[in-house]
Amino acid sequence: MPQCKKCGKKGLFLKIEGDTGLCLACNERFAQEGKILTQKIIEAKNEATASKDAEKLVSLCKSIEGYGNELVALHQAYNLQPSQELLDLIGTYKKMREQAEK
Ligand SMILES: [Zn+2]
Repeated sequence: MPQCKKCGKKGLFLKIEGDTGLCLACNERFAQEGKILTQKIIEAKNEATASKDAEKLVSLCKSIEGYGNELVALHQAYNLQPSQELLDLIGTYKKMREQAEK
């Protein structure tokens, strides 16, 4: 019987999103919250790319790491596996910050 990985709701006719294993309500909530964080990451990434100031870059890298970790935590809250792409992104900006701080 289909069962939601987040709220545990189940039923023969319960619709589950194939790629997340969440019911439509949970999937919608996850997508909304994820979208906000993803948007913040993209904005900080764009700013970081344009930034020529080391101090500014460090603080942007910190923001990206922070939002990235929030997004990982969001995945965990919904019993989902964060994508490798996301983990790589966090790692990349962590390294960039460490470089810039030297
Ligand atoms: Zn659910």
